[in-house]
Order: sequence, then structure tokens, then C-alpha cells
Amino acid sequence: MSFPKDIEIAQNANMLHIRDIAKKIEINQEDLEYYGKYKAKIPLSYINEEKIKQSKLILVTAINPTPAGEGKTTVSVGLNDGLNKIGKKSIVVIREPSLGPVFGIKGGAAGGGYAQVIPMVDINLHFTGDFSAIEKANNLLSALIDNNLQNKHHNLNIDPKTIVWKRVMDMNDRSLRSIIIGVGGSPNGVMREEGFNITPASEVMAILCLSKDFEDLKIRLGNIFVGFTHDKKPIFARDLKAEGAMAILLRDAIKPNLVQTLENNPAIIHGGPFANIAQGTNTILATKMGMSLADFVVTEAGFGADLGAEKFMHIKCHYGKLKPDAYVIVATVRALRYHGGAKKGEYENPGIHFLEKGIENLKKHIENAFKFGLKPIVAINHFATDSEAEISFIKETCASLGVRAVVADEFTQGGNGMIELAEAVVNGIEIYPNHFQPLYNVLDTVENKIRKIATEVYGATDVVYSVKAKNQLKNIYELGFDKWPICMAKTQKSLSDVETKIGRPIDFKVTVREFEFAAGAGFIIPILGDMMRMPGLPSVPAAEAMSIDKNGVITGLS
Ligand code: ADP
Ligand code: MG
Repeated sequence: MSFPKDIEIAQNANMLHIRDIAKKIEINQEDLEYYGKYKAKIPLSYINEEKIKQSKLILVTAINPTPAGEGKTTVSVGLNDGLNKIGKKSIVVIREPSLGPVFGIKGGAAGGGYAQVIPMVDINLHFTGDFSAIEKANNLLSALIDNNLQNKHHNLNIDPKTIVWKRVMDMNDRSLRSIIIGVGGSPNGVMREEGFNITPASEVMAILCLSKDFEDLKIRLGNIFVGFTHDKKPIFARDLKAEGAMAILLRDAIKPNLVQTLENNPAIIHGGPFANIAQGTNTILATKMGMSLADFVVTEAGFGADLGAEKFMHIKCHYGKLKPDAYVIVATVRALRYHGGAKKGEYENPGIHFLEKGIENLKKHIENAFKFGLKPIVAINHFATDSEAEISFIKETCASLGVRAVVADEFTQGGNGMIELAEAVVNGIEIYPNHFQPLYNVLDTVENKIRKIATEVYGATDVVYSVKAKNQLKNIYELGFDKWPICMAKTQKSLSDVETKIGRPIDFKVTVREFEFAAGAGFIIPILGDMMRMPGLPSVPAAEAMSIDKNGVITGLS
């Protein structure tokens, strides 16, 4: 019998009513805001700073992934089940999936096998409507901008050519990257160049993920930079009086969502910025909510540790005043084969000779964890095609660096396959003092902050700036926006900014092609290489394999 598909396992799950999940973490059922039987929002009043201080935060990150993903979400969900199995009160706190990858190539983001969050279909599709609310808030500002341009008497004198604010949609749709709006004569608005980003790249998403409360949310929304006037004065969303209405649209989206794992353990899913073009972790409010309700919180930072974990440390921990207590690096044998030069078709089969080279990628990520003052644990996310020899090789290499590597078999066994990892993580937190420290001082110059990330985390020798980037950098200093953390936009496939440079590239420079900044969220975005803020679909999109039958049962979602 072949192994069941993720969706089949999810559809056969024994789900508890969400009020029974809430009971486990002492949430009063009257306080929940129900979205059907299996989803609920938790009021922000449950955030408790005293409890947060006692709770332990476990960050799950990874080596540079292959396009399919290496299983951070799956391992996070499984680790949470493992921790609950060994009697710990633990919650997994992760991001909401975007429809772009769901219908594109990567699939959903609700875990896999016997380590999933459910209801899987709901989570992967519209869930509790947070993404729609974010999209609407973003596009309300767009509508206000264009209306202001059109308005002859009460306009702010905005120069349409300087507007950087874009509309968003949660779909991979490359033909919207660059468009002309306002065609068809003067009643239809001012004609100008415009473009769409995908919703996880929206600054509203970033703001929601970094906000402390409604007041902070409103201030950040008001600080969104829109463009310049014809006489070169900066215009912000607050100049358009947009922040109040935008915040109204986010009234429910700001509250974390409670669901459950296949083993009926609590899971919080909230916010969903991508890690290559945005900050890549769930909301600060969700993490704090989890820490207020449990002794352990397992959370994930997107893509490889060079992107997700670095931003977690420098952006999320900075604004949320958080620090991770444990650092788990997910590695798969197949990705290490890939980093050792195995081609598609080859990296699915045992090949220790590839691994011997590819292990360099893991070694670099281990070194980086130590730079942040954290002792990592490696989770070898087990696939059926792994050989004993390859697993032993990873364990021995890690041991030689003083690091423990544990096989994580959540995919076929759920929490039972994660007991060793759960114990290793708890043990690590008890034994090793937390020496967490960021790699750069946020008050340093922009160039120095970027240099730190590029040289220390990526292993680059230097950073090169295009002429355009240099000019934009001048702007950032003039506007006084230089004292913020950096949010790199870089390929997830390589430690460098060139996706074909696999393994551990050496002797390379990275190039900052352009700068963007998020004045509301509060970070500077250097764009390395050709990063797209609106992805396209692959030649055979996952959407083609999906359907729904006469009983409403969905197939093909993964
Ligand atoms: P990430 O969070 O790192 O992007 P995911 O946890 O979403 O990765 O996993 C990516 C895909 O890989 C999912 O479809 C999941 O079902 C599958 N997967 C994860 N772990 C395993 C495993 N151990 N064996 C087989 N498939 C797996
Ligand atoms: Mg994930």
C-alpha cells in the first residue's frame, strides 16, 4: 500500500471542536471568536508579558532548500506533537499559507504526512480571511492615492512618477507586475504606471506581523511611504488620512488564529510574509500569544537560515523584544545531495559521494547559529529514500562540530517519531545558557549592516552597489530612514545571490541592485539579484491537478 497523500491523512483526521483545544491552554470558551467548529480567533487580552518571560521559544530553520521545501513546517508541527507527547505544554506558531504557492509549485504550508495542522483545506485556502483583509487594506490606500491624483482641488500635489506604493493580490500572476492604470479618458483616473505585488510581500502584511497592538498598527500604517510631491516633499499614508480606515479593515485580522494538529495539540497560525522578499515569520502577536499560553513555543522562519533565521533575529526579535532559546536546523539528505551536485532525478536516490560535498551547506548554517550565540540542533527530516550510511555521515559530521543531529520521523510517525528531538531540544534549553546576540547594531550605517549580513551570514567577501542603489541609498539617509533593521531580498536557493551557486559558495560578492524601504513596518530592503515581488506560475501549475467532487470533497491540494 502506498503512503497516503497529505490531504487524505488530513481528511481522515479525528478533529476535536476548537473549544476543546482552547480548554487545553486555558482559554475560556466564551472568549473565543469562532470561525466554524475548527477555527477560532483568540482575543489579544490573553497576551501576558509575565508568562512570556517564562516561556521558551524554539526557532525552526533550515539549510538552503530545494524548490519543494525541506520540511520546516512539517518538523515544527511534529516537534510540537513530540513535546506534548513527553508531557510538555507546547504550541506550534506558524504562518498562514499564500494562494500563490498553493496553486503554483510548492503547494500548501500546513505540514505533511502525519505532522499537519488541520483543517488543512481551510488553512490552505481562505482560512479566516486575514489575507483578504490585508489585501483590502493595502488596496484601499492605492484607491485613496489615485483618487487624490484625480481630485483637482484637494490634492496633495503628488508626482505620479514617484509613487512606490503598489496594489496587491494573493495569486502568482506575472502579467500584473507592471501595468498601466487609468486608461480610457479623464473620468477613469490619472494614467500612470503601476504594478501588483503578491499579498505576502505587502507592507501591510509586514506591518500586521510587527505590530504590538491597534495603536501601534495605526501608527505604522500612517507611516507608510507613498511617494513625493512635485516639489520633492515625502508623502505618507497619514497625509492621505488612510491609517484609520486601513486599521478598521484589519480589526479581525490582527487576532491570532487557533487550530489544531493531527494529534489534537494547539496550533496558532497567523500572518504570512514570504522570507525571500519579506521578513518570513508569523506575527509577533501570535508568537507572544503562544508564549502566554504555553511553556514552549515552536516557530518557523521561512526558507533557509540565511534568510528566515537572520531576519527573525534582526527584525522580529528587535521589534518584539524576543530571543530564541533553541535553534533547530532542518536538513534533508536529498537537499544535501543536491548541494553536492546531484541533478534532478539523482537527488532522490542514495548518493553518499554527493553528500560529502553538500554537507558544507549545513556546516555553514551551523557556524552561523553559533555566531548568534546559539547552539543549534540538527533535525534530519527523514525521507524514505535516505540510506543509513548517509544519516550516519551527517550525525558524525555534526558531532565533530559539537552539535547533535537527530533523525526526525514526524512524516510517517507523527509525535512518536519526534520524541528524541523533543527531548534533545528541552535538554539543550536546560543545559546551555542563552547567549543570544544580534550580529549588527541597528543604529550602525546601512552599508555596515548589509556588510555584516553578507560577510558573516552568506560568506561573501564584499557588497557591490549599482548606481541606482547608490542613489536610492542617498534618499534613505535624507529621509532619516537609515536606523532600521535590514530585510534582505535574496534567492533562497543559495547562500549567495546567484541561485545556481549551491553548497557553500566561496569567494563571491553580492550586488545590491535596488533599494526599497518599508517606512511603516520599519525596515530597509536591499534587493539582491532579480528578486520578484510578484511571482509567476510554473509551466504546469499545481492548480491543474485540483478538483472538488459532488459532495464538496477536494482532491489535488498538497
Ligand atoms: P518548508 O516549511 O520547509 O517549506 P514543508 O514542511 O512545507 O517545508 O514541506 C514541504 C513538502 O515536503 C510538503 O509537501 C511535505 O508534505 C513534504 N515533506 C516534508 N517532510 C517530508 C518527509 N519527511 N517525507 C516526505 N515528504 C515530506
Ligand atoms: Mg514552511
